[in-house]
Amino acid sequence: MAETYSGEVYCVKCREKRQVTDAVVEENDKGRRFAKGTCPVCGTKVTRIMGKKKETTE
Ligand SMILES: [Zn+2]
Repeated sequence: MAETYSGEVYCVKCREKRQVTDAVVEENDKGRRFAKGTCPVCGTKVTRIMGKKKETTE
């Protein structure tokens, strides 16, 4: 049951925010959630730190 994220993620290579549509949301052992996707422009992996569940104040 992979959760996905669609939205803007900062690409460190382009140095711009890119729109991703298929980032996979993962959670580490500390409960921190990350959206991992791929920059549609350069193909670099991009990661967005998400808030905890049900929070929108990141
Ligand atoms: Zn990029």
